[in-house]
Amino acid sequence: MSAPAGTPRPVRHFEMPSSLAGKLRVYRFAIARRLVQVSVLLLFLGTAHWGWKALGQPLLPGNLSAAKLAGAIPLADPFAILQVLATGRGVAGEALLGAVLVLGVYFILGGRVFCSWVCPMNVVTDAARRVRARLAVRDVFAIPPGVRYAMLGLALAVSAVAGVAAFEWISPIAMMHREIVYGAGLGLTSVLGVFLFDAFVLKNGWCGHLCPLGAFWALAGRGAQVRVAFDDASCTRCGDCLRACPEPRVLNFNEAARHGFVKSGECTNCAACIAVCPESSLRLALRLGTVPGNRPQDLSQTPEEKP
Ligand code: SF4
Ligand code: SF4
Repeated sequence: MSAPAGTPRPVRHFEMPSSLAGKLRVYRFAIARRLVQVSVLLLFLGTAHWGWKALGQPLLPGNLSAAKLAGAIPLADPFAILQVLATGRGVAGEALLGAVLVLGVYFILGGRVFCSWVCPMNVVTDAARRVRARLAVRDVFAIPPGVRYAMLGLALAVSAVAGVAAFEWISPIAMMHREIVYGAGLGLTSVLGVFLFDAFVLKNGWCGHLCPLGAFWALAGRGAQVRVAFDDASCTRCGDCLRACPEPRVLNFNEAARHGFVKSGECTNCAACIAVCPESSLRLALRLGTVPGNRPQDLSQTPEEKP
């Protein structure tokens, strides 16, 4: 039976189930994300080292910046293409088509789905987050919101001045991918740098504050169709989702209640919030199927948000 309108519901908190089935349910999205990340790497690895083919063509030659699926479907990182365009050099029609295809996929699934479901760096930053939680590490300094967008602008400006796609040269993501697929080497030092930075300097420092590719996907995915739907009526504002969310400033209850979903393009659809919500108030859904909430304003804030 539901409580009378306006009556606050009792606040329960997330508890890790003791059964294996319960634990698997909690970790289902984390497991799925790892499977996708490993599968993408395997497709590149299998093509480069074991000659995997499809339709008589190399299955997925290339890298995260530019690749071709089964010799037929071009795939290109739109941010890499933007940097090349900034240099003033032309871009082949096939590469442009590849960028548009990739953009289309992420427009549907959520721009920063790349960050939590595909990018190999996510494994490193998730590990760093676990280490800092275990050791109770505090932030050494803060970085103001919006710096990653400045990094994006800087990457394009440097590309224009230097005449090369600047971020592609120094990106720890590209380096990590190259090292895994084509052999370990010096590039892994930048990956270690990201791990140490996230673990001991600033929580979610690289992905949440600095990465220009994450900034690009946050902008590109603003109208994305797959979103975290929010059921305002069942939410008790326990705050467990806020504590699980790796992204600063993404979960805002008032905004989510107003729209019926987490609106920020910076949400990565990682589903960490969904996994811990004790009320099942959050789920992945198509934006069109979400329902705006209508609870009174005084109930639509977390305890921390209230004056
Ligand atoms: S949506 Fe967040 S605050 Fe609301 S019940 Fe779920 S975990 Fe708690
Ligand atoms: S709001 Fe949820 S899905 Fe989005 S980044 Fe935070 S934890 Fe992940």
